Amino acid sequence: MAICYLCPRTCSIKEGEFGFCGIRQCQNGNVVLAIYGSNTGLAVDPVEKKPLNHFYPGSQVLSFGTIGCNFHCRFCQNWFTARSKDVTQLRTSATPEQIVHQAKQFGCQSVAFTYNEPIIWAEYALEVARLCRQQGLKTIAVSNGFISEKERSVFFDQMDAANIDLKSFSDDFYRKHCGGRLEPVLETLCYLAQQSSTWLEVTTLLIPSLNDSDAEIELLSKWLVRNLGSETPLHFSAFRPAYQLTELPATPPQTLFRAREIALSAGLCFVYTGNIDDPAGQTTYCPQCHQAVISRHRYQIDEYRIDNESCCQFCGQTIAGQFADGGELADEHGFENRHNTEKT
Ligand code: SF4
Repeated sequence: MAICYLCPRTCSIKEGEFGFCGIRQCQNGNVVLAIYGSNTGLAVDPVEKKPLNHFYPGSQVLSFGTIGCNFHCRFCQNWFTARSKDVTQLRTSATPEQIVHQAKQFGCQSVAFTYNEPIIWAEYALEVARLCRQQGLKTIAVSNGFISEKERSVFFDQMDAANIDLKSFSDDFYRKHCGGRLEPVLETLCYLAQQSSTWLEVTTLLIPSLNDSDAEIELLSKWLVRNLGSETPLHFSAFRPAYQLTELPATPPQTLFRAREIALSAGLCFVYTGNIDDPAGQTTYCPQCHQAVISRHRYQIDEYRIDNESCCQFCGQTIAGQFADGGELADEHGFENRHNTEKT
């Protein structure tokens, strides 16, 4: 028997058995990651798909995930792997060295630990992250933020950027629909914003009737402003019926538009919509002069108006985030030399 302290579940695991997440096993009295070195496949994605809109926009990311999760979300959009305990889904074997090599070969700027919860396969992700940094690659965690206090800094300090799912602002929702708790997630958000150098963006999947009330969206947004700062990007994304919540409809675009307005009124500077066609909700606006500094259509960047000092080309306001030299971005994407435009 051994206890796993990686996440707040603190599973007691009998010899040969697995913890709640399904991939951490008690072997010879120790908790080990039983699937180290295996994943469900590698893919090259635009960084906007993570979603991260203020972290080297327009760059490519080598993404991979495994199976299992430390939550049990009834609405899981990746349930096929996240809810799986079927190791035959781990079709790809890749050492950390091979993953880093592939990322460089594909011209990726970052490697993302994503698709299922990377905290539960921390040993694998952290070794990849360590090698990435040695080789000049950035690292990204797409996570539910449900990690123990002791392991929080160990894991996230190796990440250059994180997108954390804030699934609701209600502990009741977390308990009922995710089999988790809200407080450790809020603690992770505070840690990232206040004590780490990891670039942070937040995503909330809006589910009709469960977490999409004006009151909850306002509470959540105000908490973000107070605790993470008004320049933390927030993404509202649309739910699609999946897994155990097939009886609910997909989120109407109007809900996302309304949520964005509420969050902007609450004081957040950068609020985005996702999983719908909404160029305005996917564009980055300068918080000072309100001009579009990065115009997007879904994951595609159409206009880029941030200069080499990460400032708005219209008014000079610093835009929060981590940005490539404008020249690099233009060369990579064949943009016109818009980044050289004089500030107006
Ligand atoms: S990481 Fe997995 S095994 Fe460890 S405490 Fe969390 S759910 Fe349990």
